Amino acid sequence: MYKFIQDGDKYIISIDNHQEIMSALAAFCQEQGILAGEVYGIGAVNKATLRFLNPVTKKYVDKTFEEQMEASSLVGNISEKDGKVYLHVHANFGRADYTVVGGHLLSATLNGACELVVTRFHCKIDRQFDDETGLNLYKFD
Ligand code: FE
Repeated sequence: MYKFIQDGDKYIISIDNHQEIMSALAAFCQEQGILAGEVYGIGAVNKATLRFLNPVTKKYVDKTFEEQMEASSLVGNISEKDGKVYLHVHANFGRADYTVVGGHLLSATLNGACELVVTRFHCKIDRQFDDETGLNLYKFD
């Protein structure tokens, strides 16, 4: 699913071609016991589903783009919710005509390469659902 090397608290990851990036990243974090951290990366995909939260209705609108795109900027954080890895990742994808689509990343299928850097934090970052926003917000006591 992925290969990686480690340099202290940083992990340099290459996800295998044709994998779904968010599942692979979640599996990596779970397997390495990384429940707090940050992630950034680049790559290429042929399918991506982005999610937009309408703040009025608090409903998510998902949209899938099925075309070859460059993951020109993928950035996010790693925390935990109910003891499990919780990923919050946003990404921009560059299309063949050089326009960009972007937003909250739900899933993306790798077609080419996906090179990520994960940094492990040593604190505990919990989340809990917030009624007002409809989001799983950081829970700092
Ligand atoms: Fe988001």
